[in-house]
Amino acid sequence: METILGIDLGTTNSEVAVIRDGQVEVLGEDGEKILPSVVGLDPEGRMLVGTPARNQWVLAPDRTLRSIKRKMGQDVTVRLGDQTFSPQEISAVILRALKERAERQLGHAVRKAVITVPAFFNETQREATREAGELAGLEVVRIINEPTAASLTYEAHPDRLERLLVYDLGGGTFDVSIVQIERDVVEVLASHGDTHLGGDDFDQLLLDRVCDDFAKEHGIDLRQSLAAKSRVLRAVEEAKKRLSDDALTTLDEEFIAEKDGKPLHLRREIARDELEALIEPLLAKTLVCVDQSLSDAQLHARQIDKVILVGGASRTPLVRRLLEERLGQPVHAEVNPDLCVAMGAAIQGGLISGVDVGPVLVDITPHTLGIEAATLVEGVPAFHVFSPIIRRNTPLPASRSEIYGTMVDGQESAGIRVFQGEDHDTRKNQFVGEFLLEGLADVRAGNPIVVRFDLDLDGILKVTAKERATGLEKQLVIDNPVARFRKSNREAASQRLDAAFRAAGMAGAPGLPAPAVEPESAADDLPEHLKNLIRRCEGLIAKAQEVAPKATPDDAEEIHRQVQELLAAIAERSDAKIDKGMATLEDLVFYLQDA
Ligand code: ADP
Ligand code: MG
Repeated sequence: METILGIDLGTTNSEVAVIRDGQVEVLGEDGEKILPSVVGLDPEGRMLVGTPARNQWVLAPDRTLRSIKRKMGQDVTVRLGDQTFSPQEISAVILRALKERAERQLGHAVRKAVITVPAFFNETQREATREAGELAGLEVVRIINEPTAASLTYEAHPDRLERLLVYDLGGGTFDVSIVQIERDVVEVLASHGDTHLGGDDFDQLLLDRVCDDFAKEHGIDLRQSLAAKSRVLRAVEEAKKRLSDDALTTLDEEFIAEKDGKPLHLRREIARDELEALIEPLLAKTLVCVDQSLSDAQLHARQIDKVILVGGASRTPLVRRLLEERLGQPVHAEVNPDLCVAMGAAIQGGLISGVDVGPVLVDITPHTLGIEAATLVEGVPAFHVFSPIIRRNTPLPASRSEIYGTMVDGQESAGIRVFQGEDHDTRKNQFVGEFLLEGLADVRAGNPIVVRFDLDLDGILKVTAKERATGLEKQLVIDNPVARFRKSNREAASQRLDAAFRAAGMAGAPGLPAPAVEPESAADDLPEHLKNLIRRCEGLIAKAQEVAPKATPDDAEEIHRQVQELLAAIAERSDAKIDKGMATLEDLVFYLQDA
């Protein structure tokens, strides 16, 4: 079967994918799957494509071209050094780099490709894209729309008609499309966007903020020096990306400028809040386009089966939050938003050449993981608030952090209680572990604590809490919280209970479910006070087992019930419930012993 490449020829970045053994695979090189859509000439006049070209863009704008896609289909030429090229020729340089990458990775020549274009591209622009492919030595077997390609990674052949809203925020362009898909027939019902809005604008806003502050402090505008500007721009883009995962990040650029013969460093923290305040007005514009596309397609938000995120900048958490608010349904980003257009193009290639294409497989977390927090709801403190850190359906491995504040002045320790589940109330979620960060600085309430979750492919969760001001840190590793509470412990628990109740002459008490967790085996990484409590519980349960055989069937049944309750409280690690359960069981045992 002849290989057909799937190519996302993007304004900012491009990627290439293929179907191998029924699975879609993005072809990377040196660990990098993304090729910046930048072409340049180095000082010796040699052609540069991708990262090296991108790196010289600010420094050598006359020898570097980016965003050539905006000019596709126009009757213009562009200058590169002292030569001129058509937009198709520059695009062909990028396509050829992708083709050669694919050939190196596959170990054989490739001739055919499916290339994606924005839904709004007209015939001339599509024709120019086809031409670029041919100049690169590729037979373009089909040109497909980017939102169509993205949809294919989620729904290659649905049995019923499905409608997807595809929100694509790239480096310099934004598109939203409503796509209808039924078996292999895909149709774009509506499409809107802004051809000059994307992640690069976020970088610019952050660059200006950082440079303005630096100028205020040192009287030097870093934007005046190309070398300094280039470094700051790269640093803020990286910082922006980190802020998609972390609540706080640091810029650290040494020797960025000089004053009175002394070097100056650029060093500052940026919080996610600060970035969000800067970009929110831009994201508000994208929501207007979302509304327009829905009204063009004559659909309500609730008639959309799935909302999917595409484009690198859609990883911004505020995008997800605003969209979920506006559309009233969860949004999906399980398939890598940077890569899914290329993947969809490869799937389309597979469908054309008749190879079997399996569904796109991604490892995701099936539950939301977070911690218990207290907040003020209309001035009244609310406890047991579940604060998500890694949301369900996040691809693994995943690392995320959030910032919390202490509740009271002089607070000496912070309890980190980890839960998984989807409820706003931690009491309705599954408890997975806890620890105490002790020895906090003696400061006012609101002392920032950064809580970080690292979840790996095996489901091992590392929870780190760090006092921001001092760096004081403590960690807990939870070995596969999901499996632990699902399988092994359930079985262990029910066996243990069976044994306990057989000993107590109560085996076969019908209809009583085993508690979710067996107390002992899960107790290894518990805080000391809980371990003590559980030890006391076990003593009490043993005592209950002694008295049960002598009790009336009704009382024995009641003991069984109370033991169950207590085990459930232990499973939840709820001090309050354990206390209450113990008191009740204690009373009962006391009463029966005397009876
Ligand atoms: P295009 O479709 O325009 O070629 P991409 O989809 O590759 O572009 O998106 C590139 C943009 O996504 C850049 O502005 C980049 O900084 C941004 N981006 C990439 N990763 C992240 C991230 N983790 N968080 C926020 N923005 C990101
Ligand atoms: Mg794109």
